[in-house]
Amino acid sequence: MSINVGVLSIQGDVEENILSAKAAIDELKIDGKVAEVKTPDEISSLDGLIIPGGESTTIGALSLVNGSLKVMKDKIENGMPVLGICAGMIMLSKTASDRVIGTTNQPLLDILDITLERNSFGRQKESFEASISLDSIDIPKFNGVFIRAPSVSGVGSDIEVLSKLDEKIVAVKKGNVIGTSFHPELTQDISLHKYFVSLVQQQAN
Ligand code: GLN
Repeated sequence: MSINVGVLSIQGDVEENILSAKAAIDELKIDGKVAEVKTPDEISSLDGLIIPGGESTTIGALSLVNGSLKVMKDKIENGMPVLGICAGMIMLSKTASDRVIGTTNQPLLDILDITLERNSFGRQKESFEASISLDSIDIPKFNGVFIRAPSVSGVGSDIEVLSKLDEKIVAVKKGNVIGTSFHPELTQDISLHKYFVSLVQQQAN
């Protein structure tokens, strides 16, 4: 079966994720396609979704207005694999607060029982790269690119912690749902995108 992977294209790092996911599909010789998605109809036909990094308040507000927030939530709760990157991980969470302004009442998908601290490592000018590992999914070394990145400050009992940087949680998983603080699409290493499209293929078959 051919898989249909979408990158939510409301705002953020869309093109880079399309390229990385396409490269992952090609390298794994999976039959599938990757496209931008925005509308409830486009999202309805997906086998897997990437919610890119960007600005979570914008992604949340616009997806609420066009009805795609609800469709995403239903599909993910029914088993569709999703990779939420940075702002995308914030979208997957239950509660977000900002390091400076405190709790934000932004629209969220409320899929992962995690609490997030937005901008946990500082603002844009404090962006950095750091070597991290995601051993439990067989990625022992990965170059994490952190841009106004959140960290996970609290996890429910059903959440698997995939990676930490210093003492901060920077990647989590629950079943088919993965969230990362860092931006895998901004490196040449497509191992995380490969892991994700494999999940999509397994779930679809
Ligand atoms: N700080 C942004 C937010 O809160 C996320 C940054 C990013 O996705 N690179 O939405």
